[in-house]
Amino acid sequence: MKLSWKIKNLLFVNIIVIVVFLIGLMAVFPTPVIAEENTPDWSYAGAANPTHWGEISSEFALCELGKNQSPININHAIEGTPIKIEFNYQPTPLLVVNNGHTVQINYNPGSTMKINDEEYELIQFHFHTPSEHTINNKASALEMHLVHRNVKNQLAVVGVMMNQGSANPLIDQIWQHIPAVGKINDIENYTINAANLLPKNKDFFSYIGSLTTPPCSENVKWNVLTETTQISEEQIAAFQKLYQVNARPVQPINGRKIEFHPS
Ligand SMILES: [Zn+2]
Repeated sequence: MKLSWKIKNLLFVNIIVIVVFLIGLMAVFPTPVIAEENTPDWSYAGAANPTHWGEISSEFALCELGKNQSPININHAIEGTPIKIEFNYQPTPLLVVNNGHTVQINYNPGSTMKINDEEYELIQFHFHTPSEHTINNKASALEMHLVHRNVKNQLAVVGVMMNQGSANPLIDQIWQHIPAVGKINDIENYTINAANLLPKNKDFFSYIGSLTTPPCSENVKWNVLTETTQISEEQIAAFQKLYQVNARPVQPINGRKIEFHPS
């Protein structure tokens, strides 16, 4: 009888230990809000700032070891062959993601950009403040990145510098629908067109670089438009209220060629 009581008691203690252990596991591995956030955390300030991205995870090694990283300071561009950049953006339902690193607008399939007859599809666009690229060492208030992919899975990003001037109505519409961090705001029956955020002039600089966020993957075709678009002081302040700084510092050129393409 006495032994049996002891066994029962032991069993009870074991169950308690297992439950406490499971609760502990849940705290260490919380269910991610968005699937793609299941990667190690990184940030723009503190211990996980851009100078440490390469040490956070082996997946992020290129952030430290890569020789063709972005962004860069654009100067000494050489006049390249006249390449046209053509945009064929369609309206898309407004879907705003606040992923804790930026405000991102996901795009439906069917909107394309063509460089040198190579077609890329627009996947999403997002914002950085201040601008990540600098032109002759000068940063803009914001920089928009329009991320495209072709059928071979190669990435081409179009960078648009945004400086203080008149308000952009489309920016107002986007800013009004920014959800809380980790959330997605999928607005029904509401379409936008990213074409309304592009400057008129399509002269651009091109070079080969990387993603400007971990994992800093390389072989990204960068195309930075030379004409800036305008955004109001209030619109800049509204974004910076959410993200004071979300820009990676400029990276070494390492002998890469920057081309200028007049339209
Ligand atoms: Zn970006």
